[in-house]
Amino acid sequence: MDGEKEARATIIAAGRRLYERHILASLEGNISIRLADGRLVTTPTGANKGRMTEECLVVTDSEGNPEGSGKPSSEMFMHLAIYRERKDVGAVVHAHPPIATGYAVAGRQLPAAVLAEVVVGFGCIPIAPYGTPSTDALAEAVAGPIRNYDALLMANHGALTVGASLEQAEERMYQLEHFAHISLVSHLLGGPQEFSVEEVDRLSRLRESWGGSPIPPACYPVGCGSETVTLTKDELVGLIAEAVRSLK
Ligand SMILES: [Zn+2]
Repeated sequence: MDGEKEARATIIAAGRRLYERHILASLEGNISIRLADGRLVTTPTGANKGRMTEECLVVTDSEGNPEGSGKPSSEMFMHLAIYRERKDVGAVVHAHPPIATGYAVAGRQLPAAVLAEVVVGFGCIPIAPYGTPSTDALAEAVAGPIRNYDALLMANHGALTVGASLEQAEERMYQLEHFAHISLVSHLLGGPQEFSVEEVDRLSRLRESWGGSPIPPACYPVGCGSETVTLTKDELVGLIAEAVRSLK
């Protein structure tokens, strides 16, 4: 996106929608857009995203130094790390959508290889490790996974999506939450059923034909290539104890 004025208006509108759809509440979340000249337009720290004005947004240089007296988002480190890792990313949305964040807080992975739109659109949606909010630790935690994924859960925190435009990053946030909802219902109904490896291969080819990258190996079915083994707790404890003894 070239224009700062257009970027400001786009962020205000997105913040209002995300707030009204309960994807973020109170002062949560942050949004940024990278302009064509490398500067960033970002939400300010401590603002309700549903009630922002264009004047309260903060413009920074590509290193996050603000123009003027505004204070940029407390998660600026994280946004900067993402833009450094992904030259194709033009916008970042961080929010706390309740169902996806429930998965992140519970340390539960969203299932991979169960819904065609998600496989083709995202590959899958992993959980980035925990990092204390507004620190370098959080920026480092997301910098690795964001190289290969457009959407992440953030352990004990929330969710993150990126896109070429803010429209795309915002839409991905809704898709992520919608998928978390579907996943939760599927767990209530006995658990999601995975695609076969062959079907994921087919979906990967479809994704590539639309200009996407091949689906990462981590997004293939969990049971892929391995036999399921059932053990009682005593048998498992016995095997571990024996392995530990053999190491002494
Ligand atoms: Zn957050």
